[in-house]
Amino acid sequence: MTRHHNFCAGPAALPTPVLERARDEMLDYQGRGLSVMEMSHRSPEFVAIAEQAEADLRELLAVPDNYRVLFLQGGASLQFSMVPMNLLGRGGSANFLYTGIWGKKARAEAEQLGFGVHTAGTSEPSGHSQVPSQGDISLSADAAYLHYTANETIGGLEFDYVPDVNVPLVCDYSSSILAEPLDVSRFGVIYAGAQKNIGPAGLTLVLVRDDLLGQRCERTPSLFDYRAMAEAGSMVNTPPTYAWYLAGLVFQWLKHDIGGLEAMAVINARKAAKLYAAIDSSGLYSNPIAVNNRSRMNVPFVLADDRLDKPFLAEAEEAGLLNLKGHRSVGGMRASLYNAVPEAAVDALIDFMADFEQRRG
Ligand code: PMP
Repeated sequence: MTRHHNFCAGPAALPTPVLERARDEMLDYQGRGLSVMEMSHRSPEFVAIAEQAEADLRELLAVPDNYRVLFLQGGASLQFSMVPMNLLGRGGSANFLYTGIWGKKARAEAEQLGFGVHTAGTSEPSGHSQVPSQGDISLSADAAYLHYTANETIGGLEFDYVPDVNVPLVCDYSSSILAEPLDVSRFGVIYAGAQKNIGPAGLTLVLVRDDLLGQRCERTPSLFDYRAMAEAGSMVNTPPTYAWYLAGLVFQWLKHDIGGLEAMAVINARKAAKLYAAIDSSGLYSNPIAVNNRSRMNVPFVLADDRLDKPFLAEAEEAGLLNLKGHRSVGGMRASLYNAVPEAAVDALIDFMADFEQRRG
């Protein structure tokens, strides 16, 4: 068996020890004689798995007691609708920092539902190469919350600060949650699709502050209602049980194998620094993002001659370096360096890039 180096933006690499444990427990979970996939979500076995996952997540992120942790479905994209449905029941408008494609989609969904939207800051003038500064943020008078995207997965643009505003802060943390410690108390809502740093696709994590529960719009379906989900332990209906279990294994891996989020952050910083250094010191590769806003999770880069893109990707794949093609909307390359991508994978990529440049550059 060979596991190649997987730089996919999502669904992304999972830690090998997590997959091994899932494999070992697949047919017979801890002597119960059945798979986690085959358990009732209301069985004591599964409830224990679910509670352990939540407890481990709370420990990793030091989630304060006045926050609910929800394990939902629908992907991060459903949160683009659920956030306004849950927070705008008392009126007001949704404010956005627009720093790339995901933030734009979030704003479009709120608008599509008929809510008032306001762009409170944008990186557009810089071609999305620099996030708006704190001083550039300008909320509308009726702002009910400010939404932003901590890390724009496609553009590779990451906030290097948490905005300071006098309305609840809502953050799409899909592609950088658990990459480093986080001060949850700064936020009203944090959400993330699981398929990057949490687990497999099909699960969405939402952290919501207690006082924001119960502000939903009248006709919000119960499956979209944070309070209903919080009261039902995320089990208004059948939750994505296997994805929840796997997320729990990832949390255990982060705690026990990595040593927590501070240790994870050190590794992530090292991985990203080496790859950006390799890009910056080459004559063939380049990345346009302002140094302070360069994503540590998603590193887009272009080759000076785009006729080399195809051979680059083909040769990379031959060398066991998978999924380096940039998003279809921007082209070029993108290496996603999520938590589960080992430093050795980044080293192998850097060696390959240097070798390719020498031969073809
Ligand atoms: N937000 C961000 C920052 C993302 O990277 C993605 C997926 N790449 C999404 C939202 C959408 O996630 P999903 O496919 O889970 O709806």
